Amino acid sequence: MLSVDEALQRVLSHAAAGQTIVVPLGEALGLVLAEDVASDVDSPPHDKALVDGYAVCAADLVEGRAELIILEEVTAGAVPGKRVTRGHATRIMTGAPLPDGADSVVMIEQTTIAPAGDPTPRVQIAAPRMNLGQNIMRRAASMARGDLVLHSGSRLRAIELGVLAEVGRVAARVIGRPSLAVLSTGNELVPAADVPQPGQIRNSNGPLLLAAAHAAGAVAHDLGIATDDADALRRAISRGLDDDVLLISGGVSAGVLDLVPGVLAELGVEQVFHKVDLKPGKPIWFGVRTDGNRRTLVFGLPGNPVSSLVCFELFVRPAIGKLAGRDDAGLRALDVPLSIPFSQRSDRPTYHPARLTDTAGKLAIEPLRWQGSGDLRTLVAANALAYFPPGARQFEPGETIRVLRLPE
Ligand code: AMP
Ligand code: MG
Repeated sequence: MLSVDEALQRVLSHAAAGQTIVVPLGEALGLVLAEDVASDVDSPPHDKALVDGYAVCAADLVEGRAELIILEEVTAGAVPGKRVTRGHATRIMTGAPLPDGADSVVMIEQTTIAPAGDPTPRVQIAAPRMNLGQNIMRRAASMARGDLVLHSGSRLRAIELGVLAEVGRVAARVIGRPSLAVLSTGNELVPAADVPQPGQIRNSNGPLLLAAAHAAGAVAHDLGIATDDADALRRAISRGLDDDVLLISGGVSAGVLDLVPGVLAELGVEQVFHKVDLKPGKPIWFGVRTDGNRRTLVFGLPGNPVSSLVCFELFVRPAIGKLAGRDDAGLRALDVPLSIPFSQRSDRPTYHPARLTDTAGKLAIEPLRWQGSGDLRTLVAANALAYFPPGARQFEPGETIRVLRLPE
């Protein structure tokens, strides 16, 4: 049977970054930039004060003390009108342009206004460790007009959006979000709003997968529930083949009503693999449908909610990331000591729901008491998957194991 790593490589080999589009900054968070961006300004645009205080000539303060005549006051957004010469100072606020002639700014805390009654306003300065050029940011120190400030391929975080705004961009060319459809299959399923009748359960995978796909960066939409009936499946699956990714939950195992692989084959979806050496999630099916320029990655996820979730995290999340132009979208792996003994017994590599704790910087992992792949409720306490290799053995506290951190 295919290993998780081999299966992931096969999935990724069929996923390529999507079309580029221009979006307003407000819609660009988390997307990958598809252009190099140069600055149209010097930043700062002028030598600027970094503190509230007085712009002075450093030569007046070689003794560390001086009394200077105040020429004017310049606030941020204003422009100085007077040149600062020896014996003079200009009151200046953070961000305001440095007046000509001044070469340093003394912070307000090191000054006192000369006693009232004096017709000429003066400031007394006590700045014993004064440096030439202090408290000034030079024009273009951060970026010069024409500098390349962002490179194609960068992921846009809040920081990059701020930089784009700083260089006058209200929109940016990015790789678009992949579109994704979710289809839940099973005769036993009813929507969350319904009260299940005998034999029925509520569809939890639909909302789970829609939310996970959205959080992973896809534009996800719901195809609802299809019964285990070839016609119903054909109709619903056809609708999902217009998207970049189709997630089908249920119907890929070995039961008599597991009709999904057959219907997918009929609809021209080429199987890449069926079954991966993995627990939970072994029955996963993956295939590709190509129609002209459009390619749809189709995942048949096992119906048990935790199997669906684990398969989503191991295979679908990285695929969405690659379609969106990222190659770092998989779960973060860490090596962490166990906090409790754990008895592992499985012939397959196992991803066990677990709680990762951080006590004053010391990480530890506690596998949760879990009733198996139908037990989603226990995962409310989980923030990680603990990896155990196949075999039967007791793991002791302190033993280091591989952990995949679930997204927040
Ligand atoms: P299947 O993969 O269709 O054989 O389903 C495996 C198990 O998962 C069965 O117990 C199903 O009832 C359950 N299941 C299937 N689909 C869903 C779903 N959308 N939400 C919750 N449980 C499901
Ligand atoms: Mg089923």
